[in-house]
Order: sequence, then structure tokens, then C-alpha cells
Amino acid sequence: MAQLTESVTRMIEQFARLPGIGRKSAERLAYHILRVHKDEALELAEAIRSVKENVRYCSECFNLAEEDLCTICQDTRRDKTKVCVVEQPRDLIALEESGAYRGLYHVLLGRIAPLENIGPDQLTIKQLVNRVRVGEFQEVIMATNPTTEGDGTSLHISNLLAEMPVTLTRLARGITSGSVLEFSNKEILNDALSGRQKL
Ligand SMILES: [Zn+2]
Repeated sequence: MAQLTESVTRMIEQFARLPGIGRKSAERLAYHILRVHKDEALELAEAIRSVKENVRYCSECFNLAEEDLCTICQDTRRDKTKVCVVEQPRDLIALEESGAYRGLYHVLLGRIAPLENIGPDQLTIKQLVNRVRVGEFQEVIMATNPTTEGDGTSLHISNLLAEMPVTLTRLARGITSGSVLEFSNKEILNDALSGRQKL
């Protein structure tokens, strides 16, 4: 490594910190960047900068947004009587790609995970309860992941909403227990949505 310049070493170290990228892959990416045209390489740098400077959480549903509200909350054609509760923005994207859902969302930004010291207060559960309390929703669809922690989170929220005049449902278990929403295909998500069951 002694023959690498300081800048190249720094780039390799940065790539190696990315998930799923080992030392060898980091080196390969770095050599790729060294080879490509300057404009192309700087486009990558600019894309990273733009995401970090412009992307925030929607003030209503906590989806990723570049304005106060995300594009879904801004869309007047969405069915505002339904809200689908997911753990992460990537779960929302998976459901959107299924094309089967036209309502609104609420992103929890995680799940209750006692072993990792993540409690309800670290999620956006309070904001969800406030949104439901306003009274526009007729149905709350729980779409947390079918894992022990996802189920526990769903149960916690269901208890908080139990006294409110909304129908609570959850996605049908077409998804194999333990698998994660973001890795499910369109057909499975479609079935899960259309076959959703009352809680
Ligand atoms: Zn939103």
C-alpha cells in the first residue's frame, strides 16, 4: 500500500466503510474512479452531497422528502382515509412499487427493539397517534415486517389505537415469516395488501 497516494488511500478507506464492500471491492471501486472522466466521478460526489444537503423527513409521514412534505403527502389524488404504517422509507418504496396501494403512509423510522435499547419514544409512534386522532383516517394498515420485533411494534401501536374509531388491519401473511418487505416481490405485496386482515 505504500505506493498509493494519500488521496487514493483515503478513497479506498471510505469505500470500505460502505455496507457489503470489503477491502478488495473498495480498491476496485477506487481504481474505477481513477480511470473514469473527471465529470463522471464528480457527478457521484455531487449526488452524495445533494442527498445529504437536501433530503430530510416529511413533516407529516416521515418518508424521505426534499420539501416540508413528501411527494405522496403532497399528492391530492391519494386516498386520505387510509394510512399504511411501515418501518423504513425503503418498505414504503417496496409497497409503492407494487402499485396496489393508493393511500397515505406513516414511517416509524425503525421498530421497537428492546435488545438494542430502541423503545417506542425513539420512533414516530406519538406522531402517528396524533395523526389518527385528527380523525381523517378510516383504516390503519400495519405493514411492519413479519419479524418478532415488527410484530411487537405492531401490537404496541394497535393497543394505543384500540379506543379510536378506526379499523386496524395488517398485511396478509403471504410473506414468509421473517422475510423483509423490501425483498418481497410485487405479486406477494399485492396479495398481502388485498388480503389484509382485521386486527
Ligand atoms: Zn409524507
